[in-house]
This record gives sequence, C-alpha cells and structure tokens, in this order.
Amino acid sequence: MDKKETKYIFVVGGVISGVGKGITASSLGLILKNRGMSVTAIKMDPYINVDAGTMNPTEHGEVFVLADGDETDQDMGNYERFLDLSLTHINYMTTGRVYKTVIERERNLEYGGKCVEVVPHIPLEVIGRIKKAGQIANADVVIIEIGGTIGEYQNLLFLEAARMMKNERPKDVMFVMVSYLPTPSKIGEMKTKPTQYAVRTLNSSGIQPDILIARGETKLDDKRKEKLSLFCNIPSDRVVSAPDVDSIYDIPLNFEKEKLSDKLCGLLNVSCKKPDIKSWNAWKKFAAHAHNGKEVVKIAMIGKYFETGDFILSDSYLSVIEALKYSAYVQNRKPIISWLNSVDYEKNPARLRELKKYDGIVIPGGFGSRGVEGNLSVVKFARENKIPYFGLCYGMQMMVIEYARNILGLKDANTREVNPSSKNIVIDVMESQKENLKNNLYGGSMRLGEYKAILRDGTIARNSYGKKEILERHRHRYEVNPSFIGDLEAKGLVFSGRSPDGHLMEIAELPKNKHPFFLGTQFHPEFLAHPLRPHPLFSAFIKACIKKNK
Ligand code: GLN
Repeated sequence: MDKKETKYIFVVGGVISGVGKGITASSLGLILKNRGMSVTAIKMDPYINVDAGTMNPTEHGEVFVLADGDETDQDMGNYERFLDLSLTHINYMTTGRVYKTVIERERNLEYGGKCVEVVPHIPLEVIGRIKKAGQIANADVVIIEIGGTIGEYQNLLFLEAARMMKNERPKDVMFVMVSYLPTPSKIGEMKTKPTQYAVRTLNSSGIQPDILIARGETKLDDKRKEKLSLFCNIPSDRVVSAPDVDSIYDIPLNFEKEKLSDKLCGLLNVSCKKPDIKSWNAWKKFAAHAHNGKEVVKIAMIGKYFETGDFILSDSYLSVIEALKYSAYVQNRKPIISWLNSVDYEKNPARLRELKKYDGIVIPGGFGSRGVEGNLSVVKFARENKIPYFGLCYGMQMMVIEYARNILGLKDANTREVNPSSKNIVIDVMESQKENLKNNLYGGSMRLGEYKAILRDGTIARNSYGKKEILERHRHRYEVNPSFIGDLEAKGLVFSGRSPDGHLMEIAELPKNKHPFFLGTQFHPEFLAHPLRPHPLFSAFIKACIKKNK
C-alpha cells in the first residue's frame, strides 16, 4: 500500500497541446518540495508504443533515458531536472505498456477466470502503478501528468483511472487543468470560450478541476478571471494567470507570486512547512541567469535536420540544450546555439571554414548513415583547427572513425551501422547485440541506462569529474571495436573512461597539449545535467569555448 496520507495531483491539458503541462507539473513539484514535501512525478502517455525508444525524434521529441534504462518522454527529463530526482520505469507509462501488462496477466490466469474488461481492469492497472510509484518514492505528493489534450479519445482511460482514484480517496486527489486562452489578432482580446468547453468536456469524464492554469500570450485580467470562475465552477483565486515567459525556470517563481503552494496545501488539507528560503534563493539566482545581459558563447550543433522548424529541433535535443545552458550560466555566459546540417558539408566542403566563427562544436547522438560523411569532415576540421569539440555518443563514434581514417590511415574505417562491408570496422556491435538485430528485436534492446566507468588519471575527463568512478546513462547499440584500441592509443587518442572490466570504451579524448578540448563520450552526459548541478564535462567544454573566444 501507499502511505495513507499520500496526496495525488493530476495535471491535464485543455484546448491545445504544447501548453506546458510538463513544465507546470515540474513547477508544481518544485514549489511543493520547497515547502518540505517529498515529491515524485509520473507521466502517462496515450500512445500504443511500449516506450518512446522506437519513435523518430523529429516525430516525438527527445527520448529521455532513465537510470534503469527506460526510454521515455522528454517530460521525464523536466521532472528530473526541476525536482533533482532520479526516476525509474514505474514513473512512466504508456497505453501500450498498461495493456501489455494486463494481457500478460490474463494469459497467466492471474484474473482467476474472470472476464477481463477495458473498464475497470485497465484503469485499475493504471491506479496500481500510480500508487506503487508513490510508495517506492515514499512520497507525500505524487504529481501525475496525463498526456494529450482533454476531448481526445486517446487519454480517456487515464482520465477514468483518475476519476476512480478521486472517488476512492476524495480528500487526497486533486486536479489541475492547464488551458490555453488564445488572443486572435483580429479580435485583440483574450478569449475564454475554448477553455470553458475544455472544462465541460473534462466534467463529462466525471472530473472537476480544482485549479485552472490560464496560459496565454499575456496576463489574464480580472474580468476574464471572473468569467472563467463563473463558467468553470472554480473560485477566482484558483484561476492562475500563466503568461508566456522567456525562460521556463521562471515558472515556479511566477507560481509562488500567486501563492500557489499555499493553495495546493490548502486543497490537499496538509500543513506544509515554511518556504525553504535558502534553496528558493538558489533557484532564483539560477533563473535570473536567463535574463541578465551577458556575453555569449557560440555553439555549432551539427546534425541531420530535415525541413524541421527550430522548435522541433530544440525538442529533439532538449537535454543537450539545457545542459549547455547550465554550464554556460555558471560561467556567466549565455549559449547561442546554431543548428547546422551535416549534409551541407558533404555537398559543399568549403563551408567547413564557416565553423571557425564558433567557440565550440557539438555532435550529439544520432542513428543511421545519412550525414555521417559530413560529420566526419566536421570532426576533422575541429581537430585540425583546434576548435573545442564535444561528441555525444554518435559524436564520440565519429571521433574514433575520423582518427582511424586520418591518423591511422585506415581509409575505409567506419561503423558497422553505416558500412558493414568495410575492412576496418572500428565501431562494432557486441555479440549480444548481433542476436537482437538478427531477430528484429529493436525495442528496448540497446545498451541502455546507467553504467559505471573508471577514469584514467591525468586526463581531461578525470580532472573535470574530480573523481575516479562515474555513473552515466547510455543509449546505443555499437561500441569501439577492441581490436583497434592499441593502434588508436599508440597514435595519441586516449580512452580516458572505460567500463570496470576494461572492455568498453566510454570516453575518448586528445591530451590538453595536443588540443584544447577534443572529447567524446559513448554515454549521454546531458541526461545528468541539473540546473543547480551543471554537468562537469559540459562545464569543461564551455570553459574551453570561452578560452577560444578570448
Ligand atoms: N547509432 C549509434 C549506436 O547505436 C549511436 C547512438 C546514439 O548516438 N545515441 O551506437
């Protein structure tokens, strides 16, 4: 059982998607944490996919990997960053995952011969998971974000689970609706009607929101607050204005300007502690960085981008962008990120020279062969021109291939992922992965989640972390081929981080006297960057970028 007194806050979205439910849920968690509550968070995604791992990032956004290897949604990253938590698979569910469990259970005769039905068995499984997550975290409050928008068919069963929970424990369950109030340009006035409809639609699922977060381009005025209160059945002091902001990290601060944590505690009938001034001030100081006029650090982010808008790009690499911000902020810089298409350098190698105007280059994670030759020419350019370079996963594999080709002289060096018939496969699959690929077992079968690595003394990696042993999160199928390690190291590339048994290469770098910062990680350090605890490798990279700029 969960703690008797555990409270549950469901967060739902109205009118349009993308109104910031995830950031709202994270911010609610933060303001409650600041009032002495232990908080955990859950995301419920409506799609059938068992996890987010098999979806294209330009379709779904970033795949955020948890410590236990679960491939989840970017909102999980927001929860971990805002709340400084480490979550596991129990904090994440999809429709597919819930059905899979129920069907497996039925096949094992665990329902004792009963007819297993969509209702109540699916919502009951959802409720069981929510309570278990609360119990594992020993949480005072569990915040549950229901994916999708009110009124769509897909999330009805999650809403049904929420309704059933409210019915079971009326005093312990509350609902926050994040809605959008458009201001049509021709009308010039903020409109409440879509939100009124959304609340009524939610009502038809048997749920009444307790708090309404009114998102919009501008602040909600008193007249509209009263109107929403009247038509949505919510006292006007619980209709909270949430205008667009430049930085998401201001949102918890804005919520507290409206005394939201007091309201939540009142509604949940808990006596919370006084605000923790010290940690609140630390957050305030951090959030202020986004506004202070300061010098910039210019980062080139190389990837393969289709005709996607900027917002899609930034969604696919959200954790990398945030990690760059945290490390730049503590060094009093603002990162300016330029998205550059690796394919362009294949078509027009002369463009490589333009890279000189950046303070640093990042090649983030990636899959498949498109753009790889462009990536390799960027790595070469960065190495030869001593531009700080940070390779994340695929970006590290690119470093090794480039080094093998241009320093070891293995002209056809490649990864098996791109060219399985190359004679010099410097990045290869492990035996266990070969089986997965042969049997088309793609879902959840990469090297996933947290692994330990041991760092070599005297290296950039070791000095940046300030310790010998690290834990970092992985998501890849391919590894540096052990048969080339001797030759690569003999020619100067240093594998400064390795698995404890010494077989897997986790970090590659060039010594500081050869290059100011030329380092790649087989893992994804971006998943462990926190607002108040920037990631040491990102910080070392930014430091090198600032130095170059001078
Ligand atoms: N495609 C590479 C692999 O599977 C790298 C993956 C990544 O960058 N996340 O090993």
